[in-house]
Amino acid sequence: MKDTIGFIGLGTMGGPMARHLAKRGYRVQGFDVDAGKLEALRAAGGIACGNIAEASAGASMVITMLPRDEHVRSALTGPDGVIAHAKAGTLVIEMSTILPRTSLDIAAVLKSAGLRMMDAPVGRTPADARAGTLLVIAGGAKDDFEAAKPVFDAFADKVVHMGGPGSGIRMKVINNYMSMVSMALTAETLAMAKKAGIETAAAVEVLQNTVAGRGQINVNFPRKVLAGDITPDFPLSLGHKDLSLGVTLGHELGSPLFLGAAALELFGLAPVFGRAEQDCTALLLILEQLAGIAQT
Ligand code: NAD
Repeated sequence: MKDTIGFIGLGTMGGPMARHLAKRGYRVQGFDVDAGKLEALRAAGGIACGNIAEASAGASMVITMLPRDEHVRSALTGPDGVIAHAKAGTLVIEMSTILPRTSLDIAAVLKSAGLRMMDAPVGRTPADARAGTLLVIAGGAKDDFEAAKPVFDAFADKVVHMGGPGSGIRMKVINNYMSMVSMALTAETLAMAKKAGIETAAAVEVLQNTVAGRGQINVNFPRKVLAGDITPDFPLSLGHKDLSLGVTLGHELGSPLFLGAAALELFGLAPVFGRAEQDCTALLLILEQLAGIAQT
């Protein structure tokens, strides 16, 4: 039998993650406030616990996979939380998606009680949790990461160590920012296409075969600005022209373009920054300047 792992939060993501660990031979002591979630873990060879004290008993690691900040705070640092029951030196692996500041606050409280903590949120979907193909985005000390890596490998096929404490959850929140803005952009775009009389399926077929759908992060950014090349494949001045065409069409159709309006303002800044004839990916340099990041 491998290490004993306390696992708190056996929902859509945590349930399958805990089961993968049990199937890999870890002694998994699972707890969920919804007792109905415990049966599946038991069926996979895990141990169903009635509270956090039982789940933490004798564990060398405790994983939390809970909905929100307040659940994580109470499960880890509340009066009946892990802090009150785990043995000194236990590695707490916090895998929920919460505010980075909350994560760092909790890590400091646990540290003062002799516990170690990493932030290791996951990327991808419930289907990936079930298949064991999650992405783990870890932040924490190198030794803690190395200790946790075999555990991550039980339910993930990609594990990235971002750096010190807080860096995993920051990257996760940043990723989800991009994901959710992209969600809004996709909805905005498909609504405009429908208002223009285009069948949604036909619009999807086109968008899945252009850079718009494949993602700037996969196509243009790595080739251009991130490679230090801002010579124009497509200059910001022409990007501004195309965006104006889209926003004008949206206005004519009466289809709201919230993100389009904001992006048009941003593209409009390119001449002010002397970048109108640089590649569109040089937008990154404008935003870095606006964010006060020194240009190298
Ligand atoms: P979920 O609601 O399905 O599961 C959370 C579980 O925690 C529930 O079973 C709930 O009963 C339990 N719980 C709540 N408070 C508890 C407590 N104090 N002690 C013990 N158990 C408690 O949520 P989920 O989809 O598994 O998400 C968990 C976290 O992972 C969230 O922060 C979410 O944002 C993140 N996440 C979700 C997805 C996704 O696609 N669902 C993907 C990546 C990350």
